[in-house]
Amino acid sequence: MDIKILDKSLERYEGMVKAIAGEYESRLHNSTLFSWKLLVTSIIVIPSDAKLTSGLCEKEGTSIRILLQINDSNPDDYIAFVIAHEFAHLLFKKMTDVLCVTGRTPDRSTELTALTRISFDGKQYGKELEEQCADILALFIIKKLGYTHSKFLDEDLKKSLRKRIVVEKLANVFGNHLESAEFIDDFKMENGVGYVKNSFWYFVVTFSFTEIINFYDEVMGKKAWLRFCEALDNSDKKENLEFVESAIKRLQKSSKAA
Ligand SMILES: [Zn+2]
Repeated sequence: MDIKILDKSLERYEGMVKAIAGEYESRLHNSTLFSWKLLVTSIIVIPSDAKLTSGLCEKEGTSIRILLQINDSNPDDYIAFVIAHEFAHLLFKKMTDVLCVTGRTPDRSTELTALTRISFDGKQYGKELEEQCADILALFIIKKLGYTHSKFLDEDLKKSLRKRIVVEKLANVFGNHLESAEFIDDFKMENGVGYVKNSFWYFVVTFSFTEIINFYDEVMGKKAWLRFCEALDNSDKKENLEFVESAIKRLQKSSKAA
């Protein structure tokens, strides 16, 4: 990982970036791919006078660039949260440009990242699911690093609270809550048999999310996953937010009954 700090006043963030990347590595059982991606990642830190610190994670050929635009007057926990959010996108990134079907899904979609997909007729979906998952992982990582929430961070988190709760509930259908986990892809060994504590996060980390989609469509109906993700992607509309909330309620009921 190559870190370029383009302004002397931001030098102290080098340590924060390294700590966050290191925390991801130590919170993954399947850390090899993430560690390898770190090797080809350049981090560029620049000052910003926008109200909020922001970031961007993008692939450039065979390497990855994370751009961090830091407003030094934002509280540390908020800046750490934004950095951890971008590293979550790095975790979700696929390194091949070729779109390949890594598992059959009922809607015949292909994966763009661990979470976003392209449907059979070429529509991209799942972007908001990825954003919320990145926020959830960022909160997990900064908590492990000992950050407590400032009012500033809490105010910002409130804006997407309902969406985040939907995605947290979705993940929790598939096992233990991440909040109480030691690893993102937590598992334990019992009598020589590995037991995954939450298959949602396990399948995200191991790029086998089609397992979740297949389960979802089996329980909720044909193409239900596509509809769920499209509604979440457009959840600034009230009826779409209500749709995803009621879908999760139905999923929770059906999976308890199963
Ligand atoms: Zn993002």
